[in-house]
Amino acid sequence: MRIGAHVSTAGGLDKAIDRAKELGAEAIQCFCSSPQGWAFKPVPPGQAKSFSEKARAADVQPVFLHGIYLVNLGAESQENLTKGIDSLVNYTTAASAMGAQGVIFHPGSHKGVGYEGVFRQTVASLKEVLARSPRDVWLIIENSAGMGSHIGSKFEEIGRILRALEDPRLKVCLDTQHLFAAGHPVADRPGLEKTMQEFDRAVGLASLVAVHANDSKVPFASGVDRHENIGQGAIGLAGFEVILAHPAFRHVPFLLEVPGFDNKGPDRANVDILKAVRAKVGVGA
Ligand SMILES: [Zn+2]
Ligand SMILES: [Zn+2]
Repeated sequence: MRIGAHVSTAGGLDKAIDRAKELGAEAIQCFCSSPQGWAFKPVPPGQAKSFSEKARAADVQPVFLHGIYLVNLGAESQENLTKGIDSLVNYTTAASAMGAQGVIFHPGSHKGVGYEGVFRQTVASLKEVLARSPRDVWLIIENSAGMGSHIGSKFEEIGRILRALEDPRLKVCLDTQHLFAAGHPVADRPGLEKTMQEFDRAVGLASLVAVHANDSKVPFASGVDRHENIGQGAIGLAGFEVILAHPAFRHVPFLLEVPGFDNKGPDRANVDILKAVRAKVGVGA
């Protein structure tokens, strides 16, 4: 089980690898454009190549890109839907050039029309993204906390999308905070066991390729997406011991998206805490 973090690419893509080393991160996730804007500049081939060589030399693997926040495949306007599809294609193309395993993205929101109201559009959009994407990278759906009208907090909502497309490149990332906030009782052993059985039935454990490891600033089942440093939230250290010990996560990379003890994002302290949990529960690196 690799333990890593979301890192910034400010100053150049390959700076992300330097930051990973400073943090002790064994795997990373990053953006390759501003997550708050549509603007995208293709990654120059030379930069992509040096990034992938540097990541390999530093043994920072796997690498994931996270899609920008504006992508919403449930978008009402055709313009925003097209921009979202293009953005995901830009990202999978960049991921392939950078030697990244895939692009993690949020399945979006329905703005009041419900899951059924956006299901077909979501599936059709993903079909287009997959058709226009390189064959060697994954498109990874992240579960949501169920905030507002976000889809993807229920496993069946994700499972139905996967089954509608039946593409081996379509995978799943589970965020521990989103799970907990969405009412999946992951912080105690019987609850986690039940949760992962339900996930296996609705989605399939083989589709799980990444975990966003975040404690929760908000109580169980509150439906709110608020990350906390590991051990300082409602999941707690004991909860992470339960999670890291579960066999479903044994070979899945854990990526921190925590606020950090200095509020500057994932830091070495959080990486070290999670590594200590991994050592305590007797799971290998
Ligand atoms: Zn996340
Ligand atoms: Zn979140």
